[in-house]
Amino acid sequence: MEKRALIFGISGQDGSYLARFLLTKGYRVVGSSRDAQMCSFSNLVRLKIRDQVEVESASLNDFRSVLQVLKKVRPDEVYNLAGQSSVGLSFEQPVESFESISIGTLNLLEAIRFLEARIKIYNAGSSECFGNTDGRPADELTPFRPRSPYAVAKAAAFWQMANYREAYGLFASSGLLFNHESPLRPQRFVTRKIVNAACRIAEGSKEKLELGNISVERDWGWAPEYVEAMWLMLQQEDPDDYVIATGETNRLEDFVDNVFKVLGLNWQDHVKISREFFRPTDILAVSANPDKAARKLRWKAKYKMCDVARMMVEAEKRHGEERCE
Ligand code: NDP
Repeated sequence: MEKRALIFGISGQDGSYLARFLLTKGYRVVGSSRDAQMCSFSNLVRLKIRDQVEVESASLNDFRSVLQVLKKVRPDEVYNLAGQSSVGLSFEQPVESFESISIGTLNLLEAIRFLEARIKIYNAGSSECFGNTDGRPADELTPFRPRSPYAVAKAAAFWQMANYREAYGLFASSGLLFNHESPLRPQRFVTRKIVNAACRIAEGSKEKLELGNISVERDWGWAPEYVEAMWLMLQQEDPDDYVIATGETNRLEDFVDNVFKVLGLNWQDHVKISREFFRPTDILAVSANPDKAARKLRWKAKYKMCDVARMMVEAEKRHGEERCE
């Protein structure tokens, strides 16, 4: 029997890669966008799968629309990848961030409980929940110390998932995903901003790349392989939570250095540090222990930060050439 998957947030980076992955597994893939009529689904177009997925309008903030789309699609698996996804923007839009992430997840859980349907649900949790990990790699039992409105909302959504699993027996699993990047990352995210500016500079632009705190440390992975971990979580006997990361921590400065080096440039000649891009509170250092995913899901990241930097530059150069053709 063909399995049906419903992806909330299919227009985003992860939603598009997950859709492509599920198609290769033989799923019927339906995705939701807040306004499917207006959305261009440019990521699905870029991955050349737009005509292979069905799309519906649904807003997670609106219980009725969630219920309607679940009743219409009758999915076996639901992936919640929708919601305001920028940490920086969450300081500007704290209420929107909380509602789309936390209330959105609650609406989804309530709708599934209300329908009494045997639907497995994956929720996109975040490493941002951990806050600073002070050199101790975070695992599934590490306490949360969120440092942004985004992270507070993700922490609330994580516990909503755990609560519905324990209280009502829902098959509800959360991935605590560390940063994962790709050419489909929107421009406002720092990795994409760095890659795009560096490529323009390599082409002769005289601009300066303005960045905030480049000494922050993160674990950067490759988005296309992270979506497989999401799927694997829903193929287990029991629902559970998993840290998904490479296990390697690097400074943002190292990412910048790698990107410019791929292009034969010295980053110090082209980067300006600007206070404007410092966040009110930021995570200085976070590191990950993804052992449980390796043990139970048999999932391990193949690509590390330097691969990610190189692949993003290569994709940007290819995309630039395609635009010029
Ligand atoms: P994207 O921002 O690329 O996609 C998220 C989608 O959610 C958008 O395409 C949009 O769909 C919808 N959306 C955006 N803003 C809102 C809003 N205010 N209210 C409701 N829906 C909104 O995110 P990613 O694909 O990168 O990430 C997927 C999920 O994983 C997100 O929840 C993110 O927070 C989380 N995550 C991502 C990490 C990463 O490194 N990428 C790390 C850890 C967690 P539309 O406009 O079509 O409605």
